Amino acid sequence: MIQDQVDQIAEKVVAGIKQKLFIPVEASGRHVHLSRKIIDILFGEGYQLTKAKELSQPGQFSCVERVDLIGPKGTIKNVAVLGPERQNTQVEVSLTDAVALGIRPPLRESGNLAESAEVTLATQLASVPVKAAIIAKRHIHMSAEDAQWFGLSDKQNVCVEVLGTRPVIFQEVTIRVSPHFRTFMHLDYDEANACGYQKGTVARLVRK
Ligand SMILES: [Zn+2]
Repeated sequence: MIQDQVDQIAEKVVAGIKQKLFIPVEASGRHVHLSRKIIDILFGEGYQLTKAKELSQPGQFSCVERVDLIGPKGTIKNVAVLGPERQNTQVEVSLTDAVALGIRPPLRESGNLAESAEVTLATQLASVPVKAAIIAKRHIHMSAEDAQWFGLSDKQNVCVEVLGTRPVIFQEVTIRVSPHFRTFMHLDYDEANACGYQKGTVARLVRK
């Protein structure tokens, strides 16, 4: 495609997001959120995480620090740490990652750690087993203003068509509303790969 056409398509997508016809999509890779206690063990007493890059959700950031995930069947090295530190440690992996590690995490909304799977976190300094691994349920972060515009409420499940290079309609996408959120759909890499996600991919709600 010649650059002019690419630019025109990009302009239409940006306009569509502004008019709330489209919802921007992000693929979130495997990552961990760490509690104070676990940071002390893995990086040293009182260690402060180092911000590398701001994320789309206000106040959230990726860190310079990395950890290894060790399961009974395999290890995944250099996994992203997201800040700020949290009350509870949480490890978010895709189903493909879980198979490689040899663990069976439940499909859960972020923050709900019931029956989460055990995995070992490791740095050069230390390693520690945590019962904290989940597969995050796909979701849309939505600002209160956008939720009102779309007529949606917190915890509602919707059907969403993701317009990647091989479009997929996803069912059971959970809406999460907060005045602190910016509107973005989050997929894990299994889902992102399934629909041919690339940077700039958008989605639209499918009204039943
Ligand atoms: Zn999210």
